[in-house]
This record gives sequence, C-alpha cells and structure tokens, in this order.
Amino acid sequence: MTAPTEFKAWRVHEQDGHYQGAEQTLTTSDLPEGNVLIRVSHSSLNYKDALSASGNKGVTRSYPHTPGIDAAGEVVESATGEWPTGSQVIVTGYDLGMNTAGGFGEYIRVPADWCIPMPGGWNARTAMIYGTAGLTAGLCVQKLLTMGARPEQGRVAVSGASGAVGSVAVELLTTLGFDVVAISGKSSHADNLKALGATDVVGRETLAEEKKPLVKPVFANAVDTVGGSPLAELLKQIQPGGSVSCCGLVAGPGLQTTVLPFILRGVNLLGVDSVEIPLAEKHAIWKKFAGDWACPKTEASARDIGRAELDSALKAFLKGESSGKVVLDHRR
Ligand code: NDP
Repeated sequence: MTAPTEFKAWRVHEQDGHYQGAEQTLTTSDLPEGNVLIRVSHSSLNYKDALSASGNKGVTRSYPHTPGIDAAGEVVESATGEWPTGSQVIVTGYDLGMNTAGGFGEYIRVPADWCIPMPGGWNARTAMIYGTAGLTAGLCVQKLLTMGARPEQGRVAVSGASGAVGSVAVELLTTLGFDVVAISGKSSHADNLKALGATDVVGRETLAEEKKPLVKPVFANAVDTVGGSPLAELLKQIQPGGSVSCCGLVAGPGLQTTVLPFILRGVNLLGVDSVEIPLAEKHAIWKKFAGDWACPKTEASARDIGRAELDSALKAFLKGESSGKVVLDHRR
C-alpha cells in the first residue's frame, strides 16, 4: 500500500441538529475499506445527495459524511486483477454517498463489484452528465418497453419533467419515437422541454387531486418521478393496458389510490430501483446511452459546477427548483 494521499472533499458536519457542508482536506487513509481506490474527476448531483447533505437519516445515518451517490474517474490502486490501475470506471448506487464516502470527494474506495467500465467514446464527464438520474430514466423507459410500450399506442407522460430524471426521460422517449407530454411545475422551462423533444408541456395542475376514482384516459404510458398524489392521479389517466414506471417521491412517499385503474383498465405500476439492482443491469443501460440511446441535447445543456457551488445547487433540489443535469467537476 502506498502512503496516504491528501485530497479535498465536500464533507457534511452535524452540529446541534444542523447540517452544513464545507470543503475539507482528508487523506486516503480516512476512506473506508475496499479493494479499488479511484481518483474521482467528476460526480453528478442527485436529489438523494440533497437529502444526505441536509441530514436525512433515511439516507445517511451518521456524520461527518461525504455525499455523492455517483462518481467517475481512474483506478489508482487495486487489489483485484479485474481493475488494473489506469482503468476508467463509473460507480453509481449501492452504498456510495449514503454511508460510504461518496463522489463529492476527490477519491473514493469501494468494492470492485460496484465498478462499471467506462463505455467506449465516453469520458468521466459524459458519464456523470447521465449519472444515477440518467440511469434511472433509462431503467424507467426500459421497463415500459419490456411491458410492450410502443409509440403508436399514444402519448407518454413524464412528470417532474424538468428534473434530472425527467429531462433525460423526455429526450430518450422522444429519440425512441414516442409522443411525449412533459408535466412540469416550471412554466419558464417549457421551451427547454420542447427543445428536448416534448410535443406538449402541461402544468402540474393536470395531476391535481380529483375525487373520481377514474378519469378520461389520455396517456398510453408514463414515467413518474414524483410519487405522492400526482402519481395517484396519473394512474387514473392511463389507457387500458398501459404502464407507469415509478421511481421518485419528491411529492411524497405515500400513494393513496383505488384498485380501479388496475382491475378495470389493466394498468401496470412498475417500480424502478437504480441502486441495488445487479451490476449487469446497470451496465446494459450505460451501453445503450453510449450508443442508440444517446441524449445529445441533455449532454449539451449540462451545467458544470465546482465544490464551492455544491451548497446552493443542493438546496435548489430540495426546493424543487433544480433543472436538467448538474455535474460536479473536481478540477474547477
Ligand atoms: P429533481 O429535483 O432534479 O427533479 C424532480 C422534479 O420534480 C423537480 O424538478 C420538479 O419538476 C418536480 N417536483 C418537485 N417538487 C415537486 C412536488 N412537490 N410535486 C410535484 N412535482 C415536484 O430530482 P431527480 O430528477 O434527480 O429525482 C426525481 C425523484 O426520483 C426523486 O424523488 C429521487 O429521489 C428519485 N430517484 C429515484 C431513483 C431510484 O433508483 N428509484 C434514482 C434517482 C432518483 P417540475 O418543476 O418540472 O415539475
């Protein structure tokens, strides 16, 4: 083992029930056990990072802690032949950034079986433009396709459309030929959503609470990133045999519905987890994004920030004000 290396990390401290992140100097000996040490050049911002940074104990049990559920960079020490030094890798999910020091530090140490090889033609920044949010959008779309979703069935709704997951879902579904209706609370963002390919942008009031257990079915399928009562309303608006991929909870973790959409219209509610699924499933989606599923508009519109801007960028997530993809560049 080589001597510990000093590095910078954006670390969250707890004091009297308050949580504050700040840049700190650590050494690689501060990192947890693991058989691969990675020099992280880029990470990606996710809603879960905002929860970790604000003291959500369901995400992070103890502090000080370095958030960052995504990381991409170069293997610099390896106890396994699978990842020789110099390998370019992506790490997303599992425990990274939750209770294992994450990608908001310039180094991470993780188990070898959390790593995915960087797809050909990509660099760390490209991978982190997609990040967990992109991966999740890809998994949502994959589930719809597996259930037989096809463009000719009708319009596909995406809720939380301006967010990190929603915006990739909008572009990907458009690329695959679907007619996408973006549901968004940000009227100022309508042009951006149309630029990503949405044919229509409607306000969140489309999913305002209704007393009726079923309403006119207007969407063939949907990707829901918000959960809560908007998801319950969306289920009432799905055509017979259609599906809704469900991945998020920004509007709340509760789901109060009747069984009517399921038993009278055969609607499918498809759960999506991007964190604990087998590595091979993640790898399959990454390869698609590096190929036919590329989202060039998302790539072109991603915003790069440095560690000094993390605090305000994470707070925007909690207020539902974030939009598109935000990449952390440790070299800034
Ligand atoms: P973002 O904050 O980037 O996007 C969420 C979007 O939802 C917002 O931009 C906003 O979009 C909309 N929104 C925010 N608050 C509300 C509200 N109260 N009611 C209705 N809509 C709201 O988050 P992400 O896209 O990164 O993540 C979305 C969700 O997916 C989160 O809950 C996250 O935890 C979850 N997630 C789950 C994963 C999994 O593996 N299952 C992986 C990754 C994320 P607009 O203004 O356009 O309406």
